[in-house]
Amino acid sequence: MKNYDVTIVGAGPGGIFTAYEISKKAPELSVAIIEYGNPLEKRKCPIDGEKITKCINCKTCAIMNGFGGAGAFSDGKYNITNDFGGTLYEHIGKEKALQLMNYVDQINVEYGGQKTKLYSTADSALKTLCMRNGLHLLDAKVRHLGTDINYEVLGNLYNYLKDKVDIYFNCEVKGVSKKEDGYELETSTDTFKSKYCVISAGRSGSKWMETVCKELAIPTMSNRVDIGVRVELPYEIFSQITDELYEGKITYRTSKYEDVVRTFCMNPKGLVVNENTNGIITVNGHSYEDPEKQTNNTNFALLVSKHLTEPFKDSNGYGESIARLSNMLGGGVIVQRFGDLIRGKRSTEHRIRHSYMVPTLKATPGDLGLVMPKRILDDIIEMIYALDKIAPGTANDETLLYGVEVKFYNMELELDENLETLHKNLFVIGDCSGVTHSLSHASASGVYVARYICEKEGK
Ligand SMILES: Cc1cc2nc3c(=O)[nH]c(=O)nc-3n(C[C@H](O)[C@H](O)[C@H](O)COP(=O)(O)OP(=O)(O)OC[C@H]3O[C@@H](n4cnc5c(N)ncnc54)[C@H](O)[C@@H]3O)c2cc1C
Repeated sequence: MKNYDVTIVGAGPGGIFTAYEISKKAPELSVAIIEYGNPLEKRKCPIDGEKITKCINCKTCAIMNGFGGAGAFSDGKYNITNDFGGTLYEHIGKEKALQLMNYVDQINVEYGGQKTKLYSTADSALKTLCMRNGLHLLDAKVRHLGTDINYEVLGNLYNYLKDKVDIYFNCEVKGVSKKEDGYELETSTDTFKSKYCVISAGRSGSKWMETVCKELAIPTMSNRVDIGVRVELPYEIFSQITDELYEGKITYRTSKYEDVVRTFCMNPKGLVVNENTNGIITVNGHSYEDPEKQTNNTNFALLVSKHLTEPFKDSNGYGESIARLSNMLGGGVIVQRFGDLIRGKRSTEHRIRHSYMVPTLKATPGDLGLVMPKRILDDIIEMIYALDKIAPGTANDETLLYGVEVKFYNMELELDENLETLHKNLFVIGDCSGVTHSLSHASASGVYVARYICEKEGK
């Protein structure tokens, strides 16, 4: 049995920032981070595009698990805003949430992000341009670390933390049980005991989190799922937006169904990549700060949110089924040229090879019309024509659409204003709480809970 004052499940941004803040405010508290995946330097996805082109379902996914969590190889876009990325502000207030996100930004800058840029939508003329075309640009500041600097920052944070807290890798927490004087974590290697337990198991830990909620009778609320495609086009088409803002979060209400479609995760000069969620291959994107690693393309997702209600509650299951269908037909991600989609034709290797647009991900040419529900596809097509008005060329024949992109959300847990469950000293933070879905919100939630624990300990 290993005893600690605080145990943290998961070494993603939520877990890292909890440990960081405790080490600063109350270094005398003993802290353990228990992480299912590998240390940062051992996180290597075997897909190399040549020998291994498809997911081989490793024991732990190098992209989703390990030090740095799901964000380790992400584009490292830290959005400082209450407009998207989570609803942390509903628990802690808007001002506090922004304060903590700015604090996280300061630490990222201190640990390696000095030379990166902070973009802002404040006073942008693009807001007016969007409005005139029925589109809405959401307010945000965004620090773009880039995949390379993000990795460096994580490495520096690890070097800082490794002498101050115990970090257990390749250690899966199987169960959480409540004891008279704290919590016991049953793991694949040991049993851990602590007064405080902070769970930050992220999206990859969502299924496990459901079982913990059942066992500890923590009430949960139904979730949503976002379904869509990743769009890839020449960098120049979106450069007016990305040069100024790096990422423009743009929303649009369709005239046909009055559904809201939004842009998500914009990667100028970036790469489209595979993502593996519970064995299902979906699509994502990222980009590098280093000009040598940049491409000639920009990619971003177009997503439609679905909140399914009675009698069906499993929104994630619905998203999974659609993604499975694309995996079934394409053996993974499907790619289609916008022109082919509009003409009702599948894309072929030949047509893609003879296009001027060079795809950055090797995906199977096919027909997204056979995979996506009509309503969602209609929404996406309408949004592409709307974006074409502010970024002419978006609706070109050669624009590539990769599917399916799915954003799974964890069910939302019932938590109080301290992100504490109905069980005293058991906290759930980051994406597995359903409260956050972004790097800055997840990190901020960790700092918040760490400070609360320190305060309770009189620090
Ligand atoms: C490819 C990709 C790109 C992204 N890009 C961005 C971006 O640019 N900007 C942005 O804001 N967000 C981005 N995101 C989302 C962002 O990464 C997450 O919102 C964020 O990482 C959530 O942090 P977290 O600490 O809550 O969870 P995670 O980062 O998911 O970390 C959870 C950790 O817990 C571990 N774990 C899970 N279950 C257990 C268990 N039972 N026992 C022990 N350990 C466990 C996991 O292995 C994981 O390491 C991206 C995500 C992906 C996948």
